[in-house]
Amino acid sequence: MGFEIDKGAEKILETLNGKGYEAYIVGGCVRDMIMGRKPGDWDITTSARPEETKKCFKRTFDTGIKHGTITVLLEGGSYEVTTYRIEGEYTDCRHPDEVVFTRDIHEDLLRRDFTMNAIAYHPREGFIDPFGGRDDIEKKTIRGVGFPDERFREDALRMLRAVRFAAQLGFSVEEETWKALKNRAELIKKVSAERIREELQKLIMSGRPEKLSLLAESGLMGYIWPSLADALEKYSAETAGELAASEAVPALRWALFLRRLGAAEAQSLMKGLKFDTKTMKSVCAVIAEEKNGVDVSPYGVKKTLNRLGDENYGLFLKYSLAIGDKRAGEAEKVLEEIRKKGECVGLKDLALNGTDIGKMGVKDGRLIGEILSALLDEAQKDNENNKREILEDIVRKKLTLKE
Ligand code: ATP
Ligand code: MG
Repeated sequence: MGFEIDKGAEKILETLNGKGYEAYIVGGCVRDMIMGRKPGDWDITTSARPEETKKCFKRTFDTGIKHGTITVLLEGGSYEVTTYRIEGEYTDCRHPDEVVFTRDIHEDLLRRDFTMNAIAYHPREGFIDPFGGRDDIEKKTIRGVGFPDERFREDALRMLRAVRFAAQLGFSVEEETWKALKNRAELIKKVSAERIREELQKLIMSGRPEKLSLLAESGLMGYIWPSLADALEKYSAETAGELAASEAVPALRWALFLRRLGAAEAQSLMKGLKFDTKTMKSVCAVIAEEKNGVDVSPYGVKKTLNRLGDENYGLFLKYSLAIGDKRAGEAEKVLEEIRKKGECVGLKDLALNGTDIGKMGVKDGRLIGEILSALLDEAQKDNENNKREILEDIVRKKLTLKE
């Protein structure tokens, strides 16, 4: 059976073969091709050692040379080329103690996580599929290569990958693999925050958020964040529905995923998972805003928009829609109208600024700040007030009142 393989990847195989090395595409791209999905990236595995691979191509860089991975740059894109390798003992459930290169593709396939990910393909040779990966793909089954229990003890992240693939591909975890996973769930505690975060993100960004329930069922979430496991047990159907009703935007999906924890706990969780500050702030701002609900009056929309900022306000409306608050649609229309008319929302739109107020004789910076807030409020209430003369009048009145 012939498959349409990426031109750049094919070229790399040919170049390596031309120098006498074996080379195959492998892993996720082969699995995706078999399933008729478009692969995200094309990984290549080869008998060539990293230094040998580097000699075959003009532009390369050492991505993970210790683990045998070289990135090859071609005009069409970049490709990871990894030397066949065997992983040594794992003593910490996440890193092999040593990486040993081999010239045997079968040994390389043996170290991979699931049968569906342990298939190599070459356009002239066809498939190398020693563990029945194509069969499992056909049956929509996620099955560990070899003894799942051992494989999860080697690298505990594989358990979370199993759940993530279940959601991305719509597969079920095979019985023995599932049993081993449940047995070993606690080992997830050994995995780094970054790797857990990446997998969880792929899971909540997937097209089948209903598979979230597996996070609680497997016991994994109980070891990652117990109260989120409780929330999922109670609300997994609702959470899945909300995720399904939302655009695949990471901050939005995270906010919906974590909403039942409340903003403060969501923030602790996100700190623990080493999120970047921007995403963390957005997610927490959106969750915290939920208690205020969606205000659909033009004044309310301007206030909230000014407080949250454009981006987070947009997220908040999408979030509200996803949790079934119909007012979000109305607020969107109100917002559109405000934009169309170019009405004053924030200080930068105000017809008077701090310097102007200074020139009117106010020298105290804090007072200038207070006056600006009051003026902004007047302009938000009625855009007719956003005129220099009117605002100056208001300032004068305030100043005489103060005297
Ligand atoms: P995606 O579509 O998310 O890229 P993928 O299967 O390509 O999925 P990658 O993380 O890109 O996943 O890894 C590429 C391949 O490397 C996998 O298909 C698998 O063969 C192997 N692999 C990745 N992570 C592990 C792991 N933790 N343990 C064993 N093998 C792994
Ligand atoms: Mg991949």
